[in-house]
Amino acid sequence: MLFKTLTSLGLVALSTQAHIHSHSRRQTTSATDYDYVVVGSGAGGGPLASRLAMAGFKVLLMEAGDDQGESDTYRVPAWQLNAQTDPKMSWDFYVQHYEDWERQAQDTKITWRQSNGELYTGQDPPEGAEPLGLLYPRSGTLGGCGSHNAMVMTYPFESDWEYIQSITGDDSWSPKNMRTYFQKLERNQYAPSSIIGHGFNGWLHTSLTPLTLIVEDQKLLALVLGAAAAMGQVSDDRDCQ
Ligand SMILES: Cc1cc2nc3c(=O)[nH]c(=O)nc-3n(C[C@H](O)[C@H](O)[C@H](O)COP(=O)(O)OP(=O)(O)OC[C@H]3O[C@@H](n4cnc5c(N)ncnc54)[C@H](O)[C@@H]3O)c2cc1C
Repeated sequence: MLFKTLTSLGLVALSTQAHIHSHSRRQTTSATDYDYVVVGSGAGGGPLASRLAMAGFKVLLMEAGDDQGESDTYRVPAWQLNAQTDPKMSWDFYVQHYEDWERQAQDTKITWRQSNGELYTGQDPPEGAEPLGLLYPRSGTLGGCGSHNAMVMTYPFESDWEYIQSITGDDSWSPKNMRTYFQKLERNQYAPSSIIGHGFNGWLHTSLTPLTLIVEDQKLLALVLGAAAAMGQVSDDRDCQ
């Protein structure tokens, strides 16, 4: 599937002037004409390419998928489950968390392909079913997994930043410094502005999900109760205010 998608590789040239002559550029330029080539337009590559272009560099952004920006499944946040299964952008990978298949097969979410081509998820597959692994959905389209994610905001634990700081040897990854970036980008809509560690003038709106939406949706309610039970056992809730 990856190969098939790569054959329709999309290229986006970004620069302060690139859009004006993008057609002729495509015919006459090579990768060496760009200051930067960014591969993948997801949450990482998209903003990186944009920022570089805004800073005046010539940037080539390469994206394996196409632009689904006009599609309803892409545009409506509450339809994220539809977006995750939309064949126009979903890349369904199957992965294994354990080398030992016996151990892996104990996972209740293990998926198999039956001889009639249909998928079976569970631990009691029909005779002859081929094991695939655990579903690992990805989105192969302009915007990457930002196109089908649930827009849930969770602030990282300090130990996550400390780990990156230690493996890069770069102190700018320190929890304290990274918090300043979060404050810069956040536009908090649920806490009093006197609260420390949050931002109120950035572009990333954060709000609490209305409880009525949750209690009216039995599936979502079960998920939230399960998550709350798990968090009650393991988390000290340092940052999820
Ligand atoms: C189902 C799901 C739900 C999620 N929900 C949330 C959530 O609620 N909140 C949250 O914060 N995060 C969520 N995430 C995680 C978040 O979306 C990802 O962490 C984030 O999108 C990763 O960004 P990325 O740029 O690293 O990769 P991606 O967003 O995956 O982008 C990679 C891009 O690269 C392209 N690409 C891949 N290979 C090539 C190639 N060879 N050449 C050119 N282009 C290529 C892909 O098409 C894609 O556009 C979710 C993720 C998934 C899968």
